[in-house]
Amino acid sequence: NKTINVIGAGLAGCEAAYQIAKRGIKVRLYEMKPQKYSPAHHSENFAELVCSNSLRSDQLENAVGLLKEELRIMDSLILRAADATRVPAGGALAVDREGFSEYVTKAVRDNENIEIIYGEQDSIPDDNITVIATGPLTSESMFTYIRKIIGDDYLYFFDAAAPIVSYESINMDKAFKAARYGKGSEDYINCPMNREEYEIFYNELVSAELAEVKSFEKNMVFEGCMPIESMAQRGKDTMRYGPLKPVGLMDPRKEAKPYAVVQLRQDNKNATLYNIVGFQTHLKWPEQKRVFSLIPGLENAEFVRYGVMHRNTYINSPKLLDCTYKLKSSDNIYFAGQITGVEGYIESTASGFVAGINAAARSLDREGIVFPANTSIGALSNYISDAGVKNFQPMNVNFGLFSNVDTSIRDKRKRNSLIAQKSIEIVVNINKMF
Ligand code: FAD
Repeated sequence: NKTINVIGAGLAGCEAAYQIAKRGIKVRLYEMKPQKYSPAHHSENFAELVCSNSLRSDQLENAVGLLKEELRIMDSLILRAADATRVPAGGALAVDREGFSEYVTKAVRDNENIEIIYGEQDSIPDDNITVIATGPLTSESMFTYIRKIIGDDYLYFFDAAAPIVSYESINMDKAFKAARYGKGSEDYINCPMNREEYEIFYNELVSAELAEVKSFEKNMVFEGCMPIESMAQRGKDTMRYGPLKPVGLMDPRKEAKPYAVVQLRQDNKNATLYNIVGFQTHLKWPEQKRVFSLIPGLENAEFVRYGVMHRNTYINSPKLLDCTYKLKSSDNIYFAGQITGVEGYIESTASGFVAGINAAARSLDREGIVFPANTSIGALSNYISDAGVKNFQPMNVNFGLFSNVDTSIRDKRKRNSLIAQKSIEIVVNINKMF
């Protein structure tokens, strides 16, 4: 077995490198940081979380919670790092972002089978098996190279990142701590608005000045990470049914339910930073300060990081990849992470995991490992490689992607719980076979 190349030390690349190395194969892991940064990356460390510090639900009745559990069973490095650095976030798994990246970086650096090579790659380095995991913000030279090897099946769209404010600058005389429906005690900081405050905020938001968008990028809004101003444009009350919904939150100082609530989620272990939940945006930075400071409690907020908007690149996987994330037209090239059209931190990790174990199996001349579509790892790889999918869109894992679902069970929670139970059994068995 020869050395395997992994390009990109993000969530998918680190998971893939770890899984390959664990199987006794040497890995060369290529990373362009710190020599070059994408518009969203800032830290020298690997597996950087570019936006939210939440890895979403940790409940088994939720497909992403199940995906986490499956990855834990399969000894995922990313899940181990997340569990070791978690911060309170109700039913979700949120992490201290610095601690998380440091954990992964150390594990990868200390692994004797992994050699790290710094610098931007503009192609695949040699004929060895290679996993391309350069992410949704793949550098331009690599992007051009990938387009060359796969043809013109490229797609683009936008994502946006939410601003972060310092805790000490939040006016806690107006804001209050609580989690929706009392789950997770006081995990969120809530900024309640009355009707008048909401309307002022809404009017300023929809008329605020946006950062420049290149012409070919216009009208490319992704529903899963929609900028708050685009959501507001859809209607006066849309935000009140989305991230600003007031349900399950009572202002302890007032008897009436708030008209709208902006939530802030803890962003680091020391609870000195909070991100504004759902406020991905591409407003100009001075406009973010002006408009978001209209939120009660944030009138003097210090913005330690403004929201930004980015290109997000992914390939037309159903045409190009098989369910092990291998390029159908090559025996040596795998893709992993968001670039395959899986959407989200954990989904990117899962694809890195599958690509990694299968790249290792190929190198060892062993049979590949295909997870069945009634596990969440398998449901996801099935989706991205399903040649029948038309108009391929990036996708978070969800129970709709599973096969063999017993729809006669009407109670959704019960049904999901049964799916989870079965799925875990399967994954435990697959793990035993390794
Ligand atoms: P990345 O984590 O981006 O890793 C790719 C790595 O490859 C980087 O370290 C990069 O420096 C390196 N690289 C790139 N090009 C080269 C090259 N030519 N040579 C060498 N190295 C290279 N998902 C969520 O679940 N929650 C969120 O809140 C969220 N917010 C997002 C916000 C933005 C702005 C974007 C773009 C995406 C967001 N996502 C979010 C989606 C996705 O989960 C993340 O992008 C995730 O980090 C993808 O993991 P990855 O491993 O595919 O890529």
